[in-house]
Amino acid sequence: MTNKPPLIWLNITIFSVSFILATVVAPWYGWQFGYGAEHWIWLVVCFSFCNLSITTGYHRLWSHKAFEAHWLVRLICALGGAFALQNSALHWASDHRVHHKFVDQNDKDPYSAKRGFWFSHIGWMLRSYNAATYDDYSNCRDLQKDGIAMWQHKYYVALAILMNLGVPILLGLIYNDVWGMLLMIGAVRLVLNHHTTFFINSLAHIWGKQPFTDRNTARDNGILAFFTFGEGYHNYHHIFENDYRNGIYWWQYDPTKWIIRLCAWLGLATKLRTAPAIKIEKARAQMSLKYATSKVTQLPNQHAIVETIQREFDAFITELHNYYDVKKQLLESKKNSAAQRYELSVLKARYQQVKAELLEKRNRWHQVVAQYA
Ligand SMILES: [Zn+2]
Ligand SMILES: [Zn+2]
Repeated sequence: MTNKPPLIWLNITIFSVSFILATVVAPWYGWQFGYGAEHWIWLVVCFSFCNLSITTGYHRLWSHKAFEAHWLVRLICALGGAFALQNSALHWASDHRVHHKFVDQNDKDPYSAKRGFWFSHIGWMLRSYNAATYDDYSNCRDLQKDGIAMWQHKYYVALAILMNLGVPILLGLIYNDVWGMLLMIGAVRLVLNHHTTFFINSLAHIWGKQPFTDRNTARDNGILAFFTFGEGYHNYHHIFENDYRNGIYWWQYDPTKWIIRLCAWLGLATKLRTAPAIKIEKARAQMSLKYATSKVTQLPNQHAIVETIQREFDAFITELHNYYDVKKQLLESKKNSAAQRYELSVLKARYQQVKAELLEKRNRWHQVVAQYA
């Protein structure tokens, strides 16, 4: 038998007590005394506040520096993060950066999905697996210069208690039901916050599609995105981790992205980072090529088909480069006031031409992929 690291009784107690309160005591209380609209509304409000603080603050801002935020945004996220009871932003970001750097490497990734659902979901927090490096924050020197992140780290325990007991008790006093609010806003909200976040480490590495990369286990999953405020597009996120978006298409549900955009519009967020569009499209096309060619291996005329697929792929990628080259030239000459009006109009015409050509090649590529994938 291998020696397992010692159990962390504090975490075990928090997870199991909150789970029993949420799944047994809270329903019993509701059956005995009933819950009003205020309980349900505040449950949704507090659940959203906590999860959005984790996704916007802990994850995209502090772990990935996907944008820069006004102190007010950071303060709100620091309070919401303490309310979500997921350790300090500094600690969370440090673990998360290791997860990205060594994803799926069982000995290094703190919540490696290759160690199974239970371990990546919650098991990694039940034993002191990384005792030696627990408070090594050398991969977060930038956060150590962030006054609000450091203030939250220093007073994390006090803030966590204040938010987790203070907010439900305050609501209980306002609505004259302290026990009901402690159960709903304390326990039920906490359990929902915990497990929806944990699903990103477990389910989002098991269940879903891999449209951008198969170099790691991360998956895109719209259902998970719904419960995690956009974090379910985890396959995209693991290849373009500094992008402030996780769901990049307009039809993808990514409220965290919308919140960051809203903050930018209000002047509370700046320097929103996005991955270059050409890299995104190339990554996606390369995966489609891989899926399409692997699907036709059983067909009798597979060599001819693979050749066709490859030819369409090459034509599409060449056009993609043409388009982005001309687009770049056009933008540069628009900036350069010395550019001749004639030159500019020639470039504009060329741009329209390559754009049309790209659309045509892209359509053809999509048809080929749809045919064989
Ligand atoms: Zn991940
Ligand atoms: Zn991440």
